[in-house]
Order: sequence, then C-alpha cells, then structure tokens
Amino acid sequence: MRAKMPVIATVGAVVLGVAAGGWPALAAQTGDSGPSAEARFGAVLADRQWPAPAPGSWTPPEPAKDGLPPVVSQIKTQDRVVFLTIDDGYTYDAEFVNLVRREKVPILTFLTSRYIRGEGQYFLAMRNAGSPMENHTISHPDMKSLGPEAQKKEICESSDKIGAQYGRRPEIFRPPFGSFNEATRRAGKECGIKSFLLWSAEYYNGTSGPGVGFNGFARGDGGKGFKPGDIILMHYRTGLAGQFKTMLGWIKQQGFRPAAVQNYLPRSFGGNAPDAPGPAGTPE
Ligand SMILES: [Zn+2]
Repeated sequence: MRAKMPVIATVGAVVLGVAAGGWPALAAQTGDSGPSAEARFGAVLADRQWPAPAPGSWTPPEPAKDGLPPVVSQIKTQDRVVFLTIDDGYTYDAEFVNLVRREKVPILTFLTSRYIRGEGQYFLAMRNAGSPMENHTISHPDMKSLGPEAQKKEICESSDKIGAQYGRRPEIFRPPFGSFNEATRRAGKECGIKSFLLWSAEYYNGTSGPGVGFNGFARGDGGKGFKPGDIILMHYRTGLAGQFKTMLGWIKQQGFRPAAVQNYLPRSFGGNAPDAPGPAGTPE
C-alpha cells in the first residue's frame, strides 16, 4: 500500500493543475454521474482526451460485408463538426505543435513512417498534444502498383515502427493518394488495420489544388464550404502553422468546430466509440 501513496499524491497535483487551467474540465470531472476516480485519474495522466459525441447525435459507420477493413470518408452526423487529418510528416514545425497544444485542437496524423527518421521526438510531441499516430505506409507508394506481399510489407512494417516508437500500433490506415484495391484491404487486415479512412474534402495547404489554386479548399462532392462530418485532408508541409490557423478561422467562421474522428469510429474500426449491440456489432 505504501508504494501507492506517491502515485496518488502525483495524481492529485495533476488534477489541480488541470482544474486551474479550466473550470469546464473540473466541472466535468466532479459531476455525480461521472466516471470513477480511477477512470478520471487515468484520463488526466494519459495523452490528451477529446470529448465523445453525444449518443444519438451521429450514426456509426457500417462494417464491411466482406469482413475486410471498411472504408470511411465522411461521418454521418447533424452536429457542425469537421475532422482534421494531417498526412505524411515531411516537415517538423515546432510552432505547429505549440498551436495544436495551445488551441486544443483534435487532429489525427497519418504518418509515412520513413519521415520519423531522426525526428521521432517531433511526432511524440504531436501525439502528446492529442494526435494519435496512424498508418500511411513506409514509403508512400501507389498501393495499386504493388503486389500483395509488397503491400503487406508497406503496412505491417510501418505499423511495427510506429508501435515501437509511440507505444500504440496503428489500427487505421490511409492509403497514399487514396489509391487501394482489395489486396490492400486484405493486407491491412493481416497487419491489424481495422478501417481505412479517406476524406471528403482537401485543404491544399502549402500547395496548389486542381481549380482551387494555392492554399485552396476543395470538396470531393464539388460543393462549397464545410458539411457536418467532413473529414478534411491536410499535409505536413512548410508553413503548416500559418495554414492551420487559416483553416481554424474558416471552421469558426462557418459555425463549425473540429472534433476527434476516432471518437466517432467504433472500436471495431480502430476508434474509441462503443460498437453497436446485436448481430451488426463485432465487439472485440
Ligand atoms: Zn500522403
């Protein structure tokens, strides 16, 4: 029992620190119907946690009928939320990490694992700021140009590396260029991938997009602005901090807010949401 005392003291200090930082967090933690003390302390000590959507405010995606990882490109919800996903990892901008941490913005990183190189700490800082590290292959090939074994190597070895470096093996995969075939989904499943996450809109930050120019924004459906549940693709490129501020400005202007996509994906998809009960659910 004695061994536990210092841990509890530390937890207390952390909780006070969090409380001093914001009343809403304190109120949420001390509600009568809230989680157990253990769960609360666990959440404080873990990486940053993002709010879960209210039950009934969204429709969980359907599992794939063929038993392979399902492909998701937008979340069905009426809430004015969008999901920011950032790919590759070619640049290491300290100001961007600071911005994400300061503004408390949920993002999801799809890391091309060769970009970890000597910059492992950068993505550790991103992870601690609240961005899980998911799989975007080792070397960013067009997966459809590779045979099944080469595809498997790209996914499995990237997951091995990210798991070893950041303490959690990826369960969500984004194919480079959004290009994949059935062999990719098969390879994904064999490597422990539970879903493929594509996107419904792209912010061409730091580059030019077809018809939208430099730093342009384009929806996959050709429409304008954001729609509830949009998954937005961005990249780690030069100038990301400034570009990200621009994106946050657009989101606010249109009355939306960024949310954590992993909290809208059931556990059977590699997310944090509970799986639907009954025959449709595939609980672990
Ligand atoms: Zn990419």
